[in-house]
Amino acid sequence: MINFNQPHLTGKEAHYMYEAVYAGKLSGNGKFTKACQAWFEQHYGFRKALLTTSGTDALEMCAMLCDLKPGDEVIVPSYTFVSTALAFLREGAKVVFADSMQRNPNIDAQTIEALITPHTKVIVPVHYAGVACDMDAIMALAEKYNLLVVEDAAQAIDSYYKSNTGKSTIRPLGSIGHLAAFSFHETKNITAGGEGGLLVVNDERFVRRAEILWEKGTNRAEFFRGEVNKYGWVDMGSSFLPSEVNAAFLYAQLENLDAIQAKRKALWNRYYQHLKPLADKGCFTMPDIPEYATNNAHMFYLVLPDLEQRTALIKYLKENGVGAVFHYLSLHSSEYYHAKHDGRALPQCDRYADCLVRLPLFFDLTIEQVDSICDLLKTYYQ
Ligand SMILES: *Cc1c(COP(=O)(O)O)cnc(C)c1O
Repeated sequence: MINFNQPHLTGKEAHYMYEAVYAGKLSGNGKFTKACQAWFEQHYGFRKALLTTSGTDALEMCAMLCDLKPGDEVIVPSYTFVSTALAFLREGAKVVFADSMQRNPNIDAQTIEALITPHTKVIVPVHYAGVACDMDAIMALAEKYNLLVVEDAAQAIDSYYKSNTGKSTIRPLGSIGHLAAFSFHETKNITAGGEGGLLVVNDERFVRRAEILWEKGTNRAEFFRGEVNKYGWVDMGSSFLPSEVNAAFLYAQLENLDAIQAKRKALWNRYYQHLKPLADKGCFTMPDIPEYATNNAHMFYLVLPDLEQRTALIKYLKENGVGAVFHYLSLHSSEYYHAKHDGRALPQCDRYADCLVRLPLFFDLTIEQVDSICDLLKTYYQ
């Protein structure tokens, strides 16, 4: 059986975890936490990086930092993971769902402006499969209407956006919005030992408050830097920081990020090459990487013509020992939210919910296994 996903160990994880354990400092914000955060700030130019216990937690911190009032509206794609919407909903905001693009599952930036009202405060682009949303268009809307942008970059580690306004620049995803959230869940490109995340603060205005929210509403960070002479309860917050054991695990993965990415991209490209003839025949469509985006090989997916064909293909692959899986159900038609949704049809989201299938993609998958999966697909479509 080829599983859909399998977490990868670089070899150094247990060593660094052992070091953290025997250093006698296990709680958060120790040596490994600081090393990971410095790594992210140096590699991607993030103004401030704070490790969290999950991507969901990082999104919750983003929502708290946006300082939402009851009645405030947040624009979120419907084809995404629950946490993208939930983090804002639990701060009392109204979630307004947007449709995906025809070309890929990312939010359709062309539909956002019509959803903006005087109550709109935040836009939350999700870089699905690690492929950038149309950030020039989204940032321009944010500027025009004075909105905040929170990038859900949960799947987007080491992926980039190529701006075409002014001097053309290439920027890491997570560095463009005012705030961003990454996930290090075991299904993502790198993991903090099963669960983990990262809050990114790019806008200076949020740095101080982010540190306070992170440490249970206290100004402990400022105290340890000697900036205040006592610390106490100064704001809202929670315990968002992970243990040093998780940070140690993540550090081992960061040290090997280049190798992890190179291997994942090789597997992804192999799928693309070998399945292109079937896509050209119209059996399915393959991931579309727009001219402004790069590929971080987070996911390889196919979009089939309809639900019946997808169900049949998943069944066939399973019978032949391959774990292929569908992905999100549109949030606007979920059990929890459909009655609260304003009733607008979001046809692209529904299409991806019915027709998208993800193929196995993880570091320890071999080129031969990818070839065998492609051969199965070729046989199936003969
Ligand atoms: C994985 C994921 C999350 C949640 O991250 P966790 O670390 O599992 O909490 C949020 N949004 C998207 C788009 C994701 O893929």
